[in-house]
Amino acid sequence: MKTVRLTALLLAAIAAVGAAIHFGLGAAARAALPPASGFVLVAHGGAGDYSKMSTEQIEMRRAAMAKAVQAGYAVLAKKGASLDAVEATIRVMEDSGLFDAGRGSYYTREGVPEMDAAIMDGRTLSAGSVASLKHVANPIHLARLVMEKTPHVMLVGEGAEEFAKSQGIEMVSPYLFFSEREWQRYKNAKSAAEKADEKKSAGLSPSEEHGTVGVVALDQAGNLAAGTSTGGTVMKMPGRVGDSPILGAGTYANNESCAVSGTGTGEFFMRNIVAADICERVRYLHVSLDQAANDVVMKELVEQHGDGGVIALDSKGNVATPFNTDGMMTATVRTDAKITLQSWSKNAKPVVVSAK
Ligand code: ASP
Repeated sequence: MKTVRLTALLLAAIAAVGAAIHFGLGAAARAALPPASGFVLVAHGGAGDYSKMSTEQIEMRRAAMAKAVQAGYAVLAKKGASLDAVEATIRVMEDSGLFDAGRGSYYTREGVPEMDAAIMDGRTLSAGSVASLKHVANPIHLARLVMEKTPHVMLVGEGAEEFAKSQGIEMVSPYLFFSEREWQRYKNAKSAAEKADEKKSAGLSPSEEHGTVGVVALDQAGNLAAGTSTGGTVMKMPGRVGDSPILGAGTYANNESCAVSGTGTGEFFMRNIVAADICERVRYLHVSLDQAANDVVMKELVEQHGDGGVIALDSKGNVATPFNTDGMMTATVRTDAKITLQSWSKNAKPVVVSAK
């Protein structure tokens, strides 16, 4: 009996010391242990149905992803912060015009893009997000400025663009976002919407292609970060905001659990707080990242017919990239500088290129 009580006391003491260390570190910044596996960066270029996309388009997107990830690799290799690597990678993808983000953004029902983005620091839980932008070429950069230069987390529409101007960001004409590809997509979607009912025309078709971009990274100091940038869904209503800029839905990072960026029909990601759910399963249920991400994307979302996928990364460098669509474009790079490009279609073989 005495031994039992003593053991219980000992266990309680160990738990108390553990909790003190935990809260001590957690107050200002989330604990970061240098990862045994060095640094890691994972990018996605959207989940959806790639079966109708031409080989040429896929090749172009693949090359753009490799270029973007090289930018992130360069930051991490020089011991830069995961937050900087996330922003650098996303900016290249926004500028490429090939994805549903920045210059390549899908159009709303009014035929112009409205862009959303968010970035989050897993070390401090600081975050910035923007929504409904019409004149900003790099929404991810503006999200970063919201995080660093304002007392707020999220700015939208006109207020966000006024803030952008105050920071010296050039307002670009909507023509910057014009492309024949997106104009055709818009015209096709518009005529399909005219034949369909209201709900479908709000961009809720599950088989649709998605080209949102997102990045998660773990730096050499052991800090996680996540970012996502998007033009949203095809033919969305003006003013519609998706999951990407909503912390815990499409974007989340916390050193104590994981970093996640999602892509898919945002309404499902918001209702299911997908990114936060994955991280909190890791944190409280102590399940592996792989199990948490798969349970949320392949079970919870599938049960509700919510289409999409995520890239998830934990502080040990474990990666999970489940998607319940035909494909999802991903690129992963680690300390060894090998970029693995994969999964634009479920049957596609991975391609490895160098980050140097
Ligand atoms: N999740 C994005 C949104 O709903 C779209 C996407 O990932 O393609 O705005």
